[in-house]
Amino acid sequence: MSDCIIVGGGIIGMLTARELNAAGADVLLLERGQLGGESSWAGGGILSPLYPWRYDDSVNALAKYSQRVYPLIAQQLLAESGVDPEYNPCGLMVLDQDETGQARQWADRWDMSLDVLSSQQAINQCEPALNSEINQALWLPDIAQMRNPRLVKALAGSLAEKEIKVIEHCKVEQLIEKQGLIQGVETADKVYKADRVIVAGGAWSGKMISKNVQQPDIEPVKGQMILFKARQNLLKTMVLSGGRYLIPRRDGRILTGSTLEHTDFEKNITEDAMLSLKQSAIDLVPELANFEIEHHWAGLRPGTPQGIPYICEHPAIKGLYINSGHYRNGVILGAASAKLMADLVTGKEAELDMKPYQFEQQH
Ligand SMILES: Cc1cc2nc3c(=O)[nH]c(=O)nc-3n(C[C@H](O)[C@H](O)[C@H](O)COP(=O)(O)OP(=O)(O)OC[C@H]3O[C@@H](n4cnc5c(N)ncnc54)[C@H](O)[C@@H]3O)c2cc1C
Repeated sequence: MSDCIIVGGGIIGMLTARELNAAGADVLLLERGQLGGESSWAGGGILSPLYPWRYDDSVNALAKYSQRVYPLIAQQLLAESGVDPEYNPCGLMVLDQDETGQARQWADRWDMSLDVLSSQQAINQCEPALNSEINQALWLPDIAQMRNPRLVKALAGSLAEKEIKVIEHCKVEQLIEKQGLIQGVETADKVYKADRVIVAGGAWSGKMISKNVQQPDIEPVKGQMILFKARQNLLKTMVLSGGRYLIPRRDGRILTGSTLEHTDFEKNITEDAMLSLKQSAIDLVPELANFEIEHHWAGLRPGTPQGIPYICEHPAIKGLYINSGHYRNGVILGAASAKLMADLVTGKEAELDMKPYQFEQQH
C-alpha cells in the first residue's frame, strides 16, 4: 500500500509526484496511456498566462511562484534525466494595442518588466522578423518558455531516477470510497489501496468523480497547433497577437497556436484550422511563407469556467484530492500547483493562500 496514489501522468501528476516524493511520501502514479502523452505534450510551454492581466490574482499568484522556481527545476530535470527541457527566457511581445493600461498595472502589481515599443524601429531592434507594418507592441522580457515534449520526457526520467512507482497503460476505472473516506482505486484487473488519492487526470478529471457527489466543473477544450520547420534564428522572441502566438524553439522550429474548440473529447485536426493558423503566422512573420509545416496536432485542455484550477480536497470525500483544471496554463501553473498539493496532502503550511482553489470558490 502506498501513502498516496496519483491518477494521471501529465505535467500536473508528474510534478505532484516529484513534490510528494521530496516531502518523503511513498507515491504510486497510474497513467492510462503514456506519461505526458496528452495535453502536456501538446501544449506550447509559454511560462505565463496569455494576457496575464485578464486573469484573476489567484492565477497570477501561481504563475509568479512557478516563474521563480522553473529555472532551478529545469536544471534539476536535466541533471536527473539527461533530457534538457529547454528553459528559454526569450521574452514575449504582445501586439494587441488596447490593453496597455491594464498591462502596466499588472506589471507593477507582480513586479514584471514591461516596455511599450511605439515605433517600427524599436520593434525591429527587438524582433527583426516581424511584419514591418507593426509599429506598436508591449515587450515582456521576463517571460520564458519550455519545450513541452522535452519537459514531459525529462519529468518521466526524473521520476524513474527517483524510483517513484509509475504504472503506464493502467486506466483507473473508478475511485473506491466508503462512508465519505477514500480507500483507493480500481483498474480493470486490480485494486490499489491508499488513504490518499489525487486526481490529476487533466480534461478527464471530472469524469473520474462519481455523479453522486459534487464533480469539478472541468471540460475538454481542444487546441490545434502547427509547427513550421523554419531556419535557426528567424525569430528570437515569442509573439502574441489576437489570441494567436508564435513560439520559436532553439533549433529554429516555430510553433503556432492555437484554436479554442468545444468539441467534447475528440482530438481531430482540421484543414480549416491549419490554414487559419498558417495565415496568422505569416501575417506576423512574412518569411514563414517560405517554410513547410512539419506537424499539426491537437490537445485537450482541462477547461474551467475562469481558468482557476482546483487544488483541494474533495468536500465530501476525505482523502480524495483534485489537482486539475489548469485550462490554458497548466505548464506555467504546474510547479506552484504541485507544491501546494504536496503541502496540502502532507499537512505542511503552504506558501500561497489555498482558498481560491477550493470547490466552494468555483461553484
Ligand atoms: C494547444 C495547447 C497549447 C497550450 N499551451 C500552453 C502554454 O503555452 N502554456 C501553458 O502553461 N499551458 C499550455 N497549455 C495547457 C497545458 O498544456 C495544460 O493545462 C496541461 O498540460 C494540463 O496538464 P494535466 O497534467 O492536467 O493534463 P494532461 O496532460 O492531459 O494529463 C492528464 C493525464 O491523465 C491521464 N488519465 C486520464 N484519465 C485517466 C484514468 N482514468 N486513469 C489513468 N490516467 C488517466 C491522461 O491519459 C493524461 O495523460 C496548452 C494546451 C494546449 C492543448
